[in-house]
Amino acid sequence: MIKHYFSDILSGGRWLQDLLMTVDPSGSIISLSKGSSSEADHSHTGYAVPGMANVHSHAFQRAMAGLAEFSGNEADSFWSWRNVMYSFLGEISPDQLQAIASQLYVEMLKAGFTSVGEFHYLHNDTDGQAFSNPAEMSDKIVAATLETGIGLTLLPVLYQYGGFGAMEPKAQQRRFTHSLDHFVDLVDKLQKRVPDVAGMSIGVAPHSLRAVDPEALMGLLNTISADMPCHIHIAEQNQEVEDCVNWSDQRPVEWLNNNVDLSDRWCLVHATHLVPNEIAAIANSGAVVGLCPITEANLGDGLFPASEFMGQGGRIALGSDSNILISLAEECRLLEYGQRLNLQSRNILGSKNASTGERIFLEAVTGGHQALGRPGKSGLEVGGQGNFAVLDPLHPSIIGKPKHTVIDSWLFAGDNSVVKDVAIDGKLVVIDGHHSSEEVIKERFGKAMTELVASL
Ligand code: ZN
Repeated sequence: MIKHYFSDILSGGRWLQDLLMTVDPSGSIISLSKGSSSEADHSHTGYAVPGMANVHSHAFQRAMAGLAEFSGNEADSFWSWRNVMYSFLGEISPDQLQAIASQLYVEMLKAGFTSVGEFHYLHNDTDGQAFSNPAEMSDKIVAATLETGIGLTLLPVLYQYGGFGAMEPKAQQRRFTHSLDHFVDLVDKLQKRVPDVAGMSIGVAPHSLRAVDPEALMGLLNTISADMPCHIHIAEQNQEVEDCVNWSDQRPVEWLNNNVDLSDRWCLVHATHLVPNEIAAIANSGAVVGLCPITEANLGDGLFPASEFMGQGGRIALGSDSNILISLAEECRLLEYGQRLNLQSRNILGSKNASTGERIFLEAVTGGHQALGRPGKSGLEVGGQGNFAVLDPLHPSIIGKPKHTVIDSWLFAGDNSVVKDVAIDGKLVVIDGHHSSEEVIKERFGKAMTELVASL
């Protein structure tokens, strides 16, 4: 048993004071009661908030952050960025992937993320052939989460084609591709590891409607268990929407809603370009939309209609996608600011007379845990997991401010340096802003970066 004392804690959506939390060896919160710091193993003077789920990450892309910020010959678009990404990923070895992922997950933990949905599609060797162990690259992602402590929902990606209508994959896409049978074998193999890896679960990710054909999508859904999370990139770019209409006479979300049973197992990543019927269909289905505001801004994707969607009860979650910048505060801030700039108004995603930041934060905690197959009590309540971040009460963005403005002050006026301590399953993995393995992990990351940049 581990006992934590909190001077202030956001539990069940309410601020409470002087609480003692007992976490059992499995990481479950078994009691929350009034208490004092003298009764605890760890005493936290500060503002404890639920750990956030990061529902969408491509770990290897952290290594190319900043390498595609200059204009090239072709029109600068998502598709030119993708070309840079393809030349970069062609070189990444299994050990380099682990070095990058470990660095990334340390950064996520220090930002307040306590679990990650790794949308993992870098399966094959640099020559495009399968490794003798088909889970070679997935194992490196698992190793990175074990090394850092972050909770993992591994989402192996099914990727078959280079575009709508079963287009042949490009040479650079050979590291991603699988037949459905080989993919299902990989999922089985990974599922067998779950009992031995604390905090790990498995979902699946048909990459997108352009990379997976309807037969394989239906075959996959008929093969996996009914409660397994299912994530898909959808309607991120206008060109993708146009290509989908040309292929099927339907928009991407329209096609998905007409062909699969959209439900709370689904996470629709981006879903940027929607018409009113599609907004209502997702909101009514219970599916989560995985929003990645920093990446969507970086790639010039467009703006998700968050105000209309949340107004209809739609569920949201946050992801860092390309990992161009790891900041939980900025993901929330940019989600709200995009709406403000677009609608020329303020406090768009908040409830009336309540904290806007708190609403965005708590909705994303709940939606994020649903999307990662960790539903239930994610809000620091009895029966939930002991995953939390403690915000520094002496941070310049927070000091002296009333409690009901603390989340707003962190998200709108602060950054990662507000996050002081982070615990997974009751065990502290970040203390005073530092992860115990951060120096070793950074050194290994630096070596991998030097090798990779030299090979470009
Ligand atoms: Zn993505």
